[in-house]
Amino acid sequence: MSISQLARSIVEPPTLRLNEEARLLREKGLPVIHLGGGEPKNKTPIAAILSSAVKLVNGDTKYVPTDGVPSLKKAIIRYTEENYERMVQPENVIVSSGAKQSVYNVLFSILNPQDEVIVLAPYWVSYPEMIKMVYGVPVVVTPEDGRYLPRMADIEQAVSPATRALIVNSPNNPSGLMYPEDLVAEIVRFCERKSIYLIMDDIYHKLVFDGKKTPSAYKYASKDIESSRLIVINGISKLYGMTGFRIGWAVANRKLVEVMNNVQAQTTSCASPISQAAAEGALTGLQSIVESLRLMIENNRNVMMEELHSFTGVRIAKPDGTFYCFPDFRAYSSNSVELSNFLLKKALVVTVPGREFGMEGHLRLTYAGSVKDITEGVTRMKWALDPNAPNEIYIGDRKLVRDWL
Ligand code: PMP
Repeated sequence: MSISQLARSIVEPPTLRLNEEARLLREKGLPVIHLGGGEPKNKTPIAAILSSAVKLVNGDTKYVPTDGVPSLKKAIIRYTEENYERMVQPENVIVSSGAKQSVYNVLFSILNPQDEVIVLAPYWVSYPEMIKMVYGVPVVVTPEDGRYLPRMADIEQAVSPATRALIVNSPNNPSGLMYPEDLVAEIVRFCERKSIYLIMDDIYHKLVFDGKKTPSAYKYASKDIESSRLIVINGISKLYGMTGFRIGWAVANRKLVEVMNNVQAQTTSCASPISQAAAEGALTGLQSIVESLRLMIENNRNVMMEELHSFTGVRIAKPDGTFYCFPDFRAYSSNSVELSNFLLKKALVVTVPGREFGMEGHLRLTYAGSVKDITEGVTRMKWALDPNAPNEIYIGDRKLVRDWL
């Protein structure tokens, strides 16, 4: 079988692989706890269900404009105005099948082969792979040991004549940390000065805690949208927990949106109109849903922090948002893949190795599930690793005795 070199070099997303492993173990009847996923457990908002159901009932299921259904784009324009205080035009918005596709289409549209994109560790696993998929080169900037945010000086050093873009994801998957206002301001000004694209992946920007607000890059952009290289990505997956509908969008200058439109027209034609109707329903329906989801996740974050603080040797930066945290497990192992496999095998807990996010020695833990999953999951992890934890545990109805410490 002949497979292209490029395709062969693309790695399987670890989260999807772990989901599959967890499913297989569950099928065998084992009580697996999943702290590896990337979605909240809430039900889809009723407004979203109803508006997509209307499309289905009416058989209104044909192709729609490539850049998105006009009424959804209107809702996105309102979202941009309300959340970013920016008035944009329909020509500045393109809807795609998930924010993932939005990021990919942006990269496809701005990169020539060998162009470099700066990626800030810890980073979302898909950025480097997507950059490679369009023949670009990811250039990773890693923070100082023990820190999770980049230093401006390190970003500046990473820029070369081949740099075309910088991707920022704040609050961040996997660390949960929000980039502070002054760092965002510096990054925006720096990218403008260097004429490089700044891709703000804002998919978690409303899932923030402790009364914080995610700083908006627009606030520091001195150029108007048509001459700006600032691109802001959003979607409904995390905001409403509507991951399966696959709707995301990009807001950018109209020249770039025009090109992205052609790219999308030749690949997917358009995002599903049924999902677009659901997205419109969610965006125009009751927004208290977002607040209850946010509150539930904030409470889960607090529970997770309490659990981790009593885990001997584990260091953790308290997340400002998202539903992830990224504890440092180097007290137990500097090989996060081995550690994650060990925890799955011994404690039946799914975690994601930090290596996948560009930071060895860490594990990404999700707190989007139930409080019980968090407490029981971390208790099992402590049992498997922490010599101060009791050496007997019940997993399901089986009593297990630790005999490896
Ligand atoms: N960006 C980040 C940082 C993410 O974590 C995710 C989802 N894991 C996405 C983009 C993609 O979201 P979507 O479901 O809209 O494709």
